[in-house]
Amino acid sequence: MAEYVKPRGTADLLPVDTAEWQYLEAQARELFSLYQYREVRTPIFEHTEVFERGVGDTTDIVQKEMYTFRDRADRSITLRPEGTAGAVRAFVEQKQYGGPLPVKWFYYGPMFRYEKPQAGRFRQLHQYGVEVIGVDDPRVDAEVIELGHRFLSTVGVKSFRLEINSVGCSTCRVAHKEALLTHLAPVVQELCADCQSRYEKNPLRILDCKVDRDHPRVLTAPTITDSLCEDCRVHFAAVRAYLDDLDVPYVVNPIMVRGLDYYTRTAFEFMEDSIGAMSTILAGGRYNQLVAGFGGPDLPGVGFAGGMERLILARAANGERAEDGVQPFAFVLALGSAAKSPSVRLLQSLRATGIPADADYLGRSLKSQLKTADRLGARVAILLGDDEVLRGVATVRDLQTKEQRTVSLADVVAAVVAMRDPLVKAVDAERFPGNETNNQEGSQ
Ligand SMILES: [Zn+2]
Ligand SMILES: [Zn+2]
Repeated sequence: MAEYVKPRGTADLLPVDTAEWQYLEAQARELFSLYQYREVRTPIFEHTEVFERGVGDTTDIVQKEMYTFRDRADRSITLRPEGTAGAVRAFVEQKQYGGPLPVKWFYYGPMFRYEKPQAGRFRQLHQYGVEVIGVDDPRVDAEVIELGHRFLSTVGVKSFRLEINSVGCSTCRVAHKEALLTHLAPVVQELCADCQSRYEKNPLRILDCKVDRDHPRVLTAPTITDSLCEDCRVHFAAVRAYLDDLDVPYVVNPIMVRGLDYYTRTAFEFMEDSIGAMSTILAGGRYNQLVAGFGGPDLPGVGFAGGMERLILARAANGERAEDGVQPFAFVLALGSAAKSPSVRLLQSLRATGIPADADYLGRSLKSQLKTADRLGARVAILLGDDEVLRGVATVRDLQTKEQRTVSLADVVAAVVAMRDPLVKAVDAERFPGNETNNQEGSQ
């Protein structure tokens, strides 16, 4: 017998889960819009070269973790493992450099990586991120970092730490690479197989190797900070000064290198420890060579990305979880066959007026229908029996006070609206104090 199960590393998000997702998605959209970032949506799959170019063909992501396949026309296609490469490809392909700069974008959606699944790590993962393309001003680096800081704080992640570094430019990297090769030459044979090949191709990434990062020679390796050119040194100092202006606390981590090849200058990671070992919850940096790498003009960029699954774990560890807001205000009970037709029309009218409403379709007893209304959290039950239908009325029962009255069918919706409006106003007054008068428009 075939067994139908989801692929390893994927998740079914049931309605009990999606409330939390929708909350975070709404928070991200609201905050990014406040900072004047607009949403971009690029394809979930791209030509494989986009990620080889944009992520770097020596990275773990490109070498080991991509979902790459041949399509029916034998083209190599890859499910996107991250968001920046596609965004920058789109920026160049759609000639966005011809308009006002900088371009400030945000994105959100599924990404795919063939990794070993574990807590907070999935093969279909979800990331939100921002990109600013077109300016090298360190104020923008600081803005992007402050936005990341604000977002995490806003959604209730409490115990995080910001680490920043400058990974320099191509000039500083040549100097740093030389220093690194000299330093590591005596111990190459002691490093893992990956690092032996990195020694030839991209020795910088040895510093980030999960196997070798505690090797004594790796621990004492010269940092990029020691090799920064004058321009990069000035830029990094300015980023730090602006972060101080913005009261964003950080620590400089001179050995931080990013897992993606395209970063230049500013690199940063928000680390978070709510579920034990400190791990990255949001990370980003500057990528001044990426736009040109995609055949566009020589324009700088800076951005960040964060993972939703990790964020949800961190919130859960802090006792935060958004609740399902889907709840009927009114519940219609049709008792007897003559009540069926008026009950569907009544439901339609309630909903048309904006009243969240539902009904029982199982034809059960009055008692069990009332129980259902209670369980769903309905405030009002509207009872329609054969008798009531004959008299053209309904019984409207307040499920909290247990008061009930008979109302003409034509007036039921108005009666329910009258019960609900004071509650809506009270909630609005709490959310937007001092703004009560404006809400009258919305409730008509
Ligand atoms: Zn430099
Ligand atoms: Zn290694």
